[in-house]
Amino acid sequence: MSLEGGKITELAPGVRRLLAPNPSMMTGPGTNTYLLGNKEIAVIDPGPALPKHIDAIQEFAGGPIKWIFVTHTHPDHSPASAILAEATGADQYGRMPPQGRHQDQSFAPDHILADCDVFETGEFSLQAIHTPGHASNHLCYLHQGEHFLITGDHIINGSTVVIDPPDGSMGDYLRSLERLRSMSIAAILPGHGEVIDDPQEAVDWLINHRLQRESKIVAALEQQPDSTSRELVPLVYEDVHPKLYELAEHSLLAHLIRLEEESLATMENGRWRLVG
Ligand SMILES: [Zn+2]
Repeated sequence: MSLEGGKITELAPGVRRLLAPNPSMMTGPGTNTYLLGNKEIAVIDPGPALPKHIDAIQEFAGGPIKWIFVTHTHPDHSPASAILAEATGADQYGRMPPQGRHQDQSFAPDHILADCDVFETGEFSLQAIHTPGHASNHLCYLHQGEHFLITGDHIINGSTVVIDPPDGSMGDYLRSLERLRSMSIAAILPGHGEVIDDPQEAVDWLINHRLQRESKIVAALEQQPDSTSRELVPLVYEDVHPKLYELAEHSLLAHLIRLEEESLATMENGRWRLVG
């Protein structure tokens, strides 16, 4: 299997992946669009509003596109939805975009999904799992026949995702990961990168990785109390290229807010210290 733009990859009968031509530092090889069904097609995360990609989705669909599901409304996942819906008459499913930066306000779902909602066609059924953290309106979709979890940006392959407050929340993110531990998942179909064949190992790794980062933050605050989040970045992310410090600062701030929620840290005038 290869992650090549403009090519369709069959992952299981009736489960196909099409890579959007939007590779970048943030999107890795690009955004994965998933096509479900053989007779009537559901599209999950149609991706950015690139005409070439929207054409490719319709070309490869092989049947009428009836439904569009969106994991969240960041600009690399949902902007093609409104255009594809207009072109095909498909119904759009997902959650409303929150206010704030990096949100695709063009996404207006016909059906707003709640946690655990199940959607059935004659060919497959999908369960929506509300997984706030990376984005407050983030949904994962469980393909109930194959036990595939389509994870958008909740879990991606090849790197960790940025948690950018205020819409992003580290507390929610860890709780949303924790929830997946009790689910029976055969494989993760991420929004970026290859299929993840060992879901439980991936989830455990992510939780551990975040908690390790958090203990580094606690150690840095012990060593250097009354620091701004900016000042803490080089102490906590010494493994990260300085080019990425600005992004890292978002996730660091998300950790600090979580420590504050747990009454372990406090902030005054942008300066953080441990409590007690
Ligand atoms: Zn995202």
